[in-house]
Amino acid sequence: MSATPEISVVIPVFNEELNLPLLFSRLYPVLDGLGRPYEVIFTNDGSMDRSLELLKAQHSARPGVTRIIDFNGNYGQHMAIMAAFERVRGQVIVTLDADLQNPPEEIPKLLALIDAGHDYVGGFRINRKDSLFRTMASRMINVVRSRTTAIEMTDQGCMLRAYRRPIIEAIVQSGAVNTFIPALAYSYSSKPTEVGVRHEERHAGVSNYSLYMLIRLNFDLITGFSLAPLQLFTMVSLACAAGSFLLVVVLALRRFVFVGPEEGGTFTLFGILFFLISVTMVGIGLIGEYVGRTYQVVRVRHRYFVREIIEAGD
Ligand code: UDP
Ligand code: MG
Repeated sequence: MSATPEISVVIPVFNEELNLPLLFSRLYPVLDGLGRPYEVIFTNDGSMDRSLELLKAQHSARPGVTRIIDFNGNYGQHMAIMAAFERVRGQVIVTLDADLQNPPEEIPKLLALIDAGHDYVGGFRINRKDSLFRTMASRMINVVRSRTTAIEMTDQGCMLRAYRRPIIEAIVQSGAVNTFIPALAYSYSSKPTEVGVRHEERHAGVSNYSLYMLIRLNFDLITGFSLAPLQLFTMVSLACAAGSFLLVVVLALRRFVFVGPEEGGTFTLFGILFFLISVTMVGIGLIGEYVGRTYQVVRVRHRYFVREIIEAGD
């Protein structure tokens, strides 16, 4: 039906059966209204509900513009997007969440900025509709990120973004494993911009991110783009080492020159010792984060496994 698509919309789907019908009914009219050839690529990221069935039905309804990548298991939102990036045909790529937190009606806004010559358009959520905790945690990580990496982003959690093809090609070539796609894209862009987009409550279901996963994701964001945590750790350790050395000198002088043997103070020493041990342990954990990532890249395993691709044959 369609010519080579100009716009590729990429949507990761994990247990979204309650959201997909509304997503379809809102997304396709917006895209049809653009009057430009497009494709929508859904990656089913190992959903356990009826998501795949609904996606297949949508493919039957709109075969020319709908493609489905079906993973054999759950590999996470970013890998789902990555798999679609490897297969996009459009010159402009838009990413979107399936839960309608990013209103599809905002897509034309992003495209207008791409048409105006930008190669990266990041959305930031106006009136963010998330729990206070999520919003606060997000603010905090924003501060850490802007201090430790060169990435400038108002709202790293917003997935409604548009990219020009060369950026997506660069991301695919980088073969990143643990990656935060908007940040990686930003680092490859030459004329980035941002635009405010509406934000809605998740239409149905609950967020797939637990606190633990959010922490992991933010570790990816920071360790994936900067060595600052390791460098900071070195500085802190150096300061501790200098402090401990001074302490040893003071204690030695007390023992041999001024006061003589003492009984008290054992617990102070324990306190200091525990502090130093904890610094060391944090350091080991931090090194582990980097080593783990290095290991994942080095062992060159499949980042994900595609069970089936459902698309119209040419
Ligand atoms: N998602 C995914 N795999 C996962 C978790 C999430 O493909 O393991 C998708 C999910 O279906 C949605 C998007 O990623 O389209 C964002 O997920 P979610 O709404 O749970 O995250 P939040 O909005 O809470 O950050
Ligand atoms: Mg969501």
